[in-house]
Amino acid sequence: MHAGENKRDSIISTSDASASDSHESSTPFLGVDTQGKASQGSADPVQGNAPTALPGDEIVLARLGEIALKGLNRNRFESQLFHNMQYRLRGLGKYKITQSDSRIWIERKDGPTDTKAVIHAIHDVFGYVSASPVRRIPQDMEVLRNTVAKLGESLFSEEAIRINAAKKSDHVRTTSLPISFKIECKRIEKSFPLRSYDVCCSLGDLITERWPETTRVDVHQPDVTIYVEIRESIYLYHEIYPARKGLPVGMGGKGMLLLSGGIDSPVAGYRMASRGMRLEAIYFHTPPYTGEDAKIKVIDLAHILARYAGTLTLHIVNFTEVQLTMNKLVPEDMMTIVMRRMMLRIAEAISRERGLKALITGESLGQVASQTLEALVCTDAVAGLPIFRPLIGCDKDETVALAQDIGSFETSILPYEDCCTVFVAKHPKTHPSLENAEKAEAKLDVEALTRLAVSQSEALQIQLKNLEA
Ligand code: ATP
Ligand code: MG
Repeated sequence: MHAGENKRDSIISTSDASASDSHESSTPFLGVDTQGKASQGSADPVQGNAPTALPGDEIVLARLGEIALKGLNRNRFESQLFHNMQYRLRGLGKYKITQSDSRIWIERKDGPTDTKAVIHAIHDVFGYVSASPVRRIPQDMEVLRNTVAKLGESLFSEEAIRINAAKKSDHVRTTSLPISFKIECKRIEKSFPLRSYDVCCSLGDLITERWPETTRVDVHQPDVTIYVEIRESIYLYHEIYPARKGLPVGMGGKGMLLLSGGIDSPVAGYRMASRGMRLEAIYFHTPPYTGEDAKIKVIDLAHILARYAGTLTLHIVNFTEVQLTMNKLVPEDMMTIVMRRMMLRIAEAISRERGLKALITGESLGQVASQTLEALVCTDAVAGLPIFRPLIGCDKDETVALAQDIGSFETSILPYEDCCTVFVAKHPKTHPSLENAEKAEAKLDVEALTRLAVSQSEALQIQLKNLEA
């Protein structure tokens, strides 16, 4: 305890109201193996949708974000989210997912829940904001104190501090002593005899008295926050793992991503999937001008995308004949624009066959000649479906950072040729008018070429693989 700090006041940070959830904004905590188990008390009555793990079990708490604000549709969003989570958990046993307030509880039905494995497995599911391994114990102050004492042992004892420092985990905020902490208590179940304030005081005193040398209270920037939620049982946790937020895939319609081997298009797909859109993808290749390596690279990128977007169909279109015809009949400075217009026509034709309602590209305003406003107007003009360009306002650094985060960057920078690089014009027209574009393709039979390309496309199923726990 720092001199002058009022111990009682400083360990208090409570909310007896259940409505607000302030935990989302929390920063990382000391990461430890949470091995301590609460003593087995009497089983709690299960109320409403509340989880049914045995007292003292560990389960996973995930927090809803945007979905919690949905009105009448909320159930549909939750069902889709649970479905998407269940799919990721299928390799880990049988799971029960329930919801109460803005919380989701995940527990294994056929054995103890491996909380770290669950959090890992659901990490790339869109639709929730964070997750925690949570210990569920009976509504009993003595059980709570014993459990906090065990947790404290794994955080504040000299041996634990040495171990945690050696681990250099992302969650270890500091190794310098004393370690600061606070208790944050929410008493949602008002029949619990102690107020949140009293619970915080009791637990705070317990810790500072047991580990006077290694702990101090800090309610503003603690190294560790111990959360206590008093519901039909007591839930105790101290680690919060941020998730990818967004909306569950399946709730935002279906779109066709134009997937090249570059950096931008996988990120564009990720962005649309994060808004709940289910994806298919289309890749144009021009064998033998572009090689098998380039195609395999795109298939690999589609697999990376499937981690977030779920299983998807990848359409691989043989674009060689279209490309060679364009080479003969289209003025060189308009080649890129006409190529883009042909890609969109073909993508739209396949999308309509498949019932997809939007086209998605990785274009960003001003990135290259084909992405000036005038060029984008020329490509938009041929599309009868909306074109989503989620990166339109991003600069390359932002896109690269996201590509690194989602794990596509290293694959994207492999140096295989794309048709856009093989058949690129030396001096493309940067500000074409629609009239220029229409004139440039006047000699092409665009309908026949579109039909030909569609007939020469193959569809690959890109499965979401089981993640290793
Ligand atoms: P990326 O934009 O993915 O980094 P890139 O920079 O090589 O790849 P651009 O020339 O910027 O591609 O093309 C703009 C967009 O057009 C891409 O983001 C992608 O959506 C689409 N596109 C380009 N080439 C192809 C292709 N061969 N197959 C499918 N889509 C493509
Ligand atoms: Mg690009």
